[in-house]
Amino acid sequence: MKILANDGIDPLGKSMLEKAGFEVDTANIPQQELAGRLRAYDAITVRSATTVRKDLIDACPNLKLIGRGGVGMDNIDVEYARERGIQVVNTPASSSVSVAELVFAHLLGGIRFLYDSNRLMPSEGDTAFNALKKKYSGGKELLGATLGIIGFGRIGHEVARRAVAFGMNVLVHDVFPVLDTLSIQLGGQELTVRISSVTLEELLSSSDYITLHVPGQSGSVSLLNSAEIAKMKKGAGIINTSRGGLVNEQALLEGLNSGNLSFAALDVFEDEPTPAQAILRHERISLSPHIGAATQEAQERIGEELAGLVIGFFKR
Ligand code: NAD
Repeated sequence: MKILANDGIDPLGKSMLEKAGFEVDTANIPQQELAGRLRAYDAITVRSATTVRKDLIDACPNLKLIGRGGVGMDNIDVEYARERGIQVVNTPASSSVSVAELVFAHLLGGIRFLYDSNRLMPSEGDTAFNALKKKYSGGKELLGATLGIIGFGRIGHEVARRAVAFGMNVLVHDVFPVLDTLSIQLGGQELTVRISSVTLEELLSSSDYITLHVPGQSGSVSLLNSAEIAKMKKGAGIINTSRGGLVNEQALLEGLNSGNLSFAALDVFEDEPTPAQAILRHERISLSPHIGAATQEAQERIGEELAGLVIGFFKR
């Protein structure tokens, strides 16, 4: 059996597949050449870079499995593949902790202005140093602040656990009813804490910081537009590590420029991989290049889980 890991696979996953007798190719074939060359393989694994659309599926009758290392499957025509008898699998839980930790990297960096002070630190001179110190002396603590989590699934839960550990109040909003207790490991102990499930309106008006953990919405609908941002607390912050466009970028810029929002953090963008200049240059937006799941630990877990799914399918 031949597997094309077109966006790469962690060495642990590759070695699991090879030990199980699979031939694994990590060639990274360009998208436009895939239709001609994927025919030689029984399965393809991708991350978010390679797309597997109807035309590619039609061109490769030999394909039996499509594996996505990660959560969102918007780069795969999942229903169409399944209609054609192709197994489609992903590894949704492997990167939840990594994404949740990135939320706090942005949040802590945002409320202490680290992303901007890193860029502006002067190499010499008391005056410039003191000016920057003055500019960024009004930071805030997380203790006692309220974090609103929109989307209380795998990543939302991990974010809530970390927020509780920081002493934050947590509000959650989901389209489905959610449990109002959460178990967290703290100091070697398992604690059960209460969290409040609220309407979107309540979350918007009561949160100091809002973080989104929902799937991309159909039709690329934004969840936070000007109307929602206008309902937020003055000086609130927004973090989006989910999907580009869930926060309307024009509305976000207006919110920041009017002072209604104090800062924003984006790991995902309306235009990826070429985010708008106004977003890239804004002094109150903390940026990262879609690296939510890109930790060594998550990549290892993803590779291991994906290899297990491929082996399980072909050896069943
Ligand atoms: P999940 O399916 O476990 O949870 C999503 C939750 O959102 C569900 O509970 C669902 O009911 C809720 N939801 C859906 N639509 C909603 C709406 N309109 N309003 C409120 N709640 C809604 O998903 P997850 O594993 O937690 O992943 C969440 C997001 O994170 C996905 O968009 C995924 O693509 C993204 N993600 C990003 C990265 C990255 O690299 N930045 C990595 C992994 C996942």
